[in-house]
Amino acid sequence: MEQTEYDVIVIGAGVGGSNVALELARAGWRVLVLEAGRYYSRRSYPRGELDGNAQLFWNGGMELNRSATLALLRAKVVGGGSIVNQALLDEFDHDALDDWRQLTGMDLFSETGMRPWYERARAALQIQTVPLAHANRNARLFADGFARCGFQCAPLERGEADCGHGDGNDCIECLYGCRRDSKQSTPMTSLKGALEAGAQLLPECEVLGIEEVGQGVRVHGRLAGGRRLLWQTRSVVLAAGAVGSTGLLLRSGYAERLPRLGQRFFSHPQYMYYARYREPVDAHRGPLQSYKSADAGFRRQGFKLENVFAPPVGTALLLPGSGAPHQQRMRQLRHFACIEVAVRDTAPGRIGLDRHGRPLIDKELDSEDRRRAAAGRRAVEAIFEATGAEAVLPGRFGICLHLMGGLTLGRNAATAVVGADFRLFGSPHVYVADAGLFPSAPGINPSLTIMALGRRVAARMLEDRP
Ligand SMILES: Cc1cc2nc3c(=O)[nH]c(=O)nc-3n(C[C@H](O)[C@H](O)[C@H](O)COP(=O)(O)OP(=O)(O)OC[C@H]3O[C@@H](n4cnc5c(N)ncnc54)[C@H](O)[C@@H]3O)c2cc1C
Repeated sequence: MEQTEYDVIVIGAGVGGSNVALELARAGWRVLVLEAGRYYSRRSYPRGELDGNAQLFWNGGMELNRSATLALLRAKVVGGGSIVNQALLDEFDHDALDDWRQLTGMDLFSETGMRPWYERARAALQIQTVPLAHANRNARLFADGFARCGFQCAPLERGEADCGHGDGNDCIECLYGCRRDSKQSTPMTSLKGALEAGAQLLPECEVLGIEEVGQGVRVHGRLAGGRRLLWQTRSVVLAAGAVGSTGLLLRSGYAERLPRLGQRFFSHPQYMYYARYREPVDAHRGPLQSYKSADAGFRRQGFKLENVFAPPVGTALLLPGSGAPHQQRMRQLRHFACIEVAVRDTAPGRIGLDRHGRPLIDKELDSEDRRRAAAGRRAVEAIFEATGAEAVLPGRFGICLHLMGGLTLGRNAATAVVGADFRLFGSPHVYVADAGLFPSAPGINPSLTIMALGRRVAARMLEDRP
């Protein structure tokens, strides 16, 4: 048993965990943050896509759903998803908040209810509109196609300080950690603040299980070298991400007590479409993304479009074919543009465990979700056609970057896992502060809301135990 006493152990140093740790450390709590991934700085991020996949993600960069039709990307690094994501930061609209209010009965989910928490989250960040002066040809084709088809698009809001586009910086690289310290990842923002306020961080420590005992919780961890550690703490915050936190509870024997554990898993399945143009597009240059769809019709139909691209290994996995024809396509990489359809999925999946205790994801699109994906595909094809693409190549499988649910907020244990006080039903000392809380798919980038909820969870913990 470790001798140091902590008021709270936060499991996971990602988006939710860093924000909760900051508020509690500033309130004077003794906070320990445990993170399975390694700590990197701008000087030590892996160089190159293959090393990035191997070192910054669980299971080498990609996990698959049971039917191998969807690839899930789950960060494993101090900073969690904020290190590898695109830092696109959006607040939820009425539609998403109304749905959540209805599902949970919580007044928090309204524009006024969320306002103070969004403001607190924003205060720790620099958020900018991606400067259109440096938009690359991939972005310009996107905007041009939208205009020609009569669709609405808008510039993206991004957590960034100074990306140096004027100096010719190419932002695609920051999918494996930002070497300029421009991207507003949590080690640059909330986690940094938490550590400055006295929180302690132990990287490369995977939490294997938790056990509620008496007036607290025991946390079992394992260091990368294999050494086992055990802590006793007053309270625990699960912030290991939707899949990580759910898996941890399943391994800790909570399935019987919490019948909805692992259910209502959503992931905004994304489908990338490549198009070949006669002139080079050079989609890898400058800002990786500049525009998103802002079309009320798309929102009603349950999808959105983003102008995006993937590094070469990712693109090679997505492009169809094999052998010489595939190689020929890869040689034309500079001529490809790309648009992604992100589906606001309605068919819930399920997070379980395989016989080795690893996450097993059952997730499929139902007919409604397929209809949404098809409507998005039609819009993408119209845009490519209107801008003179020579050929359109759909990606071979869907990608899930927004992993949500499994520990959903709700009214009672018959329908959900976590109550309005952000505690597991029946567990006074175990709180949740990650995307696992999401009761449905918002169809909007989730990070800013995860940060805001992290702040709200911490405030609730301080009310429970000042
Ligand atoms: C490529 C990519 C691009 C994205 N782009 C955007 C974007 O532009 N905008 C946006 O809003 N969202 C984006 N996302 C999604 C966003 O990053 C996630 O939704 C967000 O990070 C989830 O936050 P979280 O707190 O739930 O979990 P995470 O941020 O994933 O943090 C969980 C942490 O817990 C750790 N952990 C897990 N299990 C254990 C354990 N047993 N013991 C100890 N530690 C553990 C993990 O290693 C991880 O570091 C993107 C994601 C990816 C992969």
